[in-house]
Amino acid sequence: MLVSVALAAAILAALAASGCGDSGGLSASAAQGGSGAGGAVATGSPSASGKVTGTPGPAPTPTRSPKATPAAGATTAGGSTGAPTGGGSPALRVVFVDVGQGDAAVLRSGSWTGLVDGGPAGSEGAIEVALAKLGVRRLDTLVISHLHADHTGGLPALVAEYRPRRAWVAGAVRGGLAAALRGAGTAVVQARRGLTKRFGTAKATVLAPGGLSGDANTDSIVLELDAAGRRVVFTGDSTGAGETAAGATLARGPPVDVLKVSHHGSRYSTTTGFLRGARPRTAVISVGRNSYGHPSSDAVKRLRAGGARVFSTRRSGSITLTVTAAGGLRWSYARSGAQITRGVSRGGLSSGASGGSSGGAAATSVAGAASSSASASGGTVVYVTNTGECYHQKGCRYLSSSRIAMKLSHAKADGYRPCSVCDPPR
Ligand SMILES: [Zn+2]
Ligand SMILES: [Zn+2]
Repeated sequence: MLVSVALAAAILAALAASGCGDSGGLSASAAQGGSGAGGAVATGSPSASGKVTGTPGPAPTPTRSPKATPAAGATTAGGSTGAPTGGGSPALRVVFVDVGQGDAAVLRSGSWTGLVDGGPAGSEGAIEVALAKLGVRRLDTLVISHLHADHTGGLPALVAEYRPRRAWVAGAVRGGLAAALRGAGTAVVQARRGLTKRFGTAKATVLAPGGLSGDANTDSIVLELDAAGRRVVFTGDSTGAGETAAGATLARGPPVDVLKVSHHGSRYSTTTGFLRGARPRTAVISVGRNSYGHPSSDAVKRLRAGGARVFSTRRSGSITLTVTAAGGLRWSYARSGAQITRGVSRGGLSSGASGGSSGGAAATSVAGAASSSASASGGTVVYVTNTGECYHQKGCRYLSSSRIAMKLSHAKADGYRPCSVCDPPR
């Protein structure tokens, strides 16, 4: 194992010639700006009562700034379309929360409640709105796909408020999140392939990781939920061996009904091999404004080539999936009427419901990926690449293929390592 890992690392290093995992030959993806995802994603918005098999709607005009629709008295982000409930208690409800560039999904099955990832810092309000929409007061299970800031930034406050009974993680939790989990009395479970548990009437199965490689994205928890005969899969930012293993397991079962697409639609995930196993019918990309080129048209094309309908939170806002007791799939969506606000208090819903700057803009500055926001907001600025694992000083030779400015604190929080060649600040 060690030998093969070392060999793989050597091959990667040779390919990248950087030691930082950068793929030198790849050109930089242009910063997407406000309308960068235009055209890439099939934008048929899931209608409130439409079946998943309905015809995708026409592409709505990409909007630079998703303004709140209700001009007066914007109250809740998630409530504007009203979620369908179907007959009887649904087997599973999932809200893919529009947290900008990041992931968060609220789950409910019967009285059981869960959360998969906690969005970037500043998205707590939007997640609270979704939790309230599903009537969640306390979390049974928190699944942290991996420990990158766009998946964990909102968690310390949410953990303090919703006191999850247990948290599934892959890797060592540190810092404020670890303290919050301790404070909430949450039992932290290292989730590995094969772990199963009842989530209400749904069955949860961990498909990956089998073990830890040390790369947070590769080690993302891939979670399958089976509810009323439907398969819903959450992938975190899974890639490489983790994604391959998950795809191999999925290949042994029926097609995936709903796939939370890995890594915000990065071209380096959602491989043809994975899709051959998963065969997703519907795909949800959780993504906001970013400088990484997410979602990539390559990944979206691969999804569509397999027949999947593709939705994104950036286009549709928060997306609610209901699996009815009879196994029907219903969708509703809501552009964030309430904006994602930064520094939201733990006090409740009103904090997430104020008007003001657009959620996208807030998410961008939270992600710290845009050079303007990184430099404007003070602090040391470093540079990362689209594919690398290191952060660099300006002028480092490994920044030739792409260069994304980022605050040092964000780079470190997002798991980037200092480049050994240019020796950036630590
Ligand atoms: Zn990640
Ligand atoms: Zn991510």
